[in-house]
Amino acid sequence: MRLVAGVRHCVDRRRLVCREVVELMTDHLEGALGRRVRRRFEAHLAACAACAAYLAQMRATVAAVARVQRHDLPGAVRDELAVLARRRRALRAVRPPPAGATP
Ligand SMILES: [Zn+2]
Repeated sequence: MRLVAGVRHCVDRRRLVCREVVELMTDHLEGALGRRVRRRFEAHLAACAACAAYLAQMRATVAAVARVQRHDLPGAVRDELAVLARRRRALRAVRPPPAGATP
């Protein structure tokens, strides 16, 4: 899930709400948040048990998926994942860096 650049710029200056934190979860897990947004993200998590639980659930899911071996998957699923990976790489190639990120 990606946050559009305008929203990212806006959240750089104020407290985040749950919806925004959920939208930033993937970027957080990938270490792609800028310093200021990351501070606000972490401040929200420290005060919001629901978002902290959601992040813990995402981390558990990522860890579980990482244990799946290629040969565990049916061929159709492997093909679909390859298509999604190509799309993701293409999107990342054109995506601007996060606000506040250092090059
Ligand atoms: Zn929250």
